[in-house]
Amino acid sequence: MSAAAANVAVIGGGISGAVCASLLAARGVAVTLFDSGRGAGGRMAQRREVMEDGTELRFDHGAPYFTVSNDEVARVVGGWEARGLVAEWKAMFACFDRESGKFRDFDKEGTTKKYVGVPGMNSICKSLCQEDGVMAKFGVTIGKMDWLQDRSSWSLASLDGKDLGNFDYVVATDKNVASQKVSGLTGKPPPLDLSVFPHLATMFQDIPVRPCFALMLAFSEPLAMVPVQGFSFYNSDSLSWAFCDSSKPERACAPPNRCTSLIQAILGTAFNCGVCF
Ligand SMILES: Cc1cc2nc3c(=O)[nH]c(=O)nc-3n(C[C@H](O)[C@H](O)[C@H](O)COP(=O)(O)OP(=O)(O)OC[C@H]3O[C@@H](n4cnc5c(N)ncnc54)[C@H](O)[C@@H]3O)c2cc1C
Repeated sequence: MSAAAANVAVIGGGISGAVCASLLAARGVAVTLFDSGRGAGGRMAQRREVMEDGTELRFDHGAPYFTVSNDEVARVVGGWEARGLVAEWKAMFACFDRESGKFRDFDKEGTTKKYVGVPGMNSICKSLCQEDGVMAKFGVTIGKMDWLQDRSSWSLASLDGKDLGNFDYVVATDKNVASQKVSGLTGKPPPLDLSVFPHLATMFQDIPVRPCFALMLAFSEPLAMVPVQGFSFYNSDSLSWAFCDSSKPERACAPPNRCTSLIQAILGTAFNCGVCF
């Protein structure tokens, strides 16, 4: 790709789109990022709730944290850490065995360095989408993508039919751009007609999708009975993990003794709220 000439549309302001857009912009490529959401983050989302007494609660109801196992990614994340976009989440982690009702594997779960965005998981994406050279447009759903053979460029239009311009390249970060499931929601065909790209259609089909529920809970005071700030579940078909969000860096909510927690369950199986944190 010739940086000087390239004009790229990135569909999606989640971590994939935001990192892609910022890296391209840093190399002089003109980037326009579109996301149907109100802001950046995608599945690195944070929900804020204000209680009747004015207390603000924050829940990272998408990815709770991330780890790094690759040198190149470590360099990028190191840069984010230096800029204050992420911080290490230093807490106690374990597994909870539902059969024995006991916590175990304290050491194993705690060995990997865990990073969180500060003050929210979406902070990383928000910041990347504001970097020089990235023009981010939120609240815009791409409804149609057409390849213009005569111009060798992509024409993009929004779901409500607005012309969004022509681009040399398009980076789509969500397989829904070509999913028939979208038609059920919008009543229109998916933005990208994959019949023209059969090899891509096969690749898209192979990307697994695993729906889940995230339950956000707030407690009036810390739960003394839980010895850790995060745990995964053993011997559970439905529950995956639980985390205490207010133990993350820069998440403390007022009054200081209130804590926010999150439980994730896999969709399609019985949801058991019996284990609280
Ligand atoms: C509850 C939960 C727990 C998770 N736990 C972990 C974990 O522990 N570790 C881990 O590594 N990962 C975890 N993940 C997964 C992780 O959050 C995702 O893999 C990652 O955030 C995906 O980023 P992305 O940018 O690829 O996609 P997304 O974040 O989904 O971003 C895609 C964006 O594209 C936008 N979009 C889609 N179609 C259009 C359109 N037509 N027009 C405009 N915009 C469009 C969407 O609005 C969305 O913002 C978890 C996810 C969830 C939901």
